[in-house]
Amino acid sequence: MKLRPYSGNSDAAGRGYHHWCPACDEPHGIAVGIRNRNGAVWSFNGDMDRPTFTPSVRCFTTDEEGHQHTLCHYFITNGQIVFCSDNPHALNGQTVELPDWPERRTDG
Ligand SMILES: [Zn+2]
Repeated sequence: MKLRPYSGNSDAAGRGYHHWCPACDEPHGIAVGIRNRNGAVWSFNGDMDRPTFTPSVRCFTTDEEGHQHTLCHYFITNGQIVFCSDNPHALNGQTVELPDWPERRTDG
């Protein structure tokens, strides 16, 4: 399983998906049914094995002065993670297969 539907709160079911990010070694969530806390919502092709989400996904932190710092920026296209060229991590600019969820993480 590469994607996990949002879980916990029943209101969230089907509203988005988590996937494992091999660059950050943690899951990222993509909202497809409702807007996330940043007001963003993505389109999803519905394919759990070779998903495509558009537009790109960008994770960032905001410092005390309100400046955003990118942590992870990528597209998911046909089951592949296409990292943009503005990432601070080791997979910057690379394209990798969307990984299966690591078995060591069972808590969702
Ligand atoms: Zn990431």
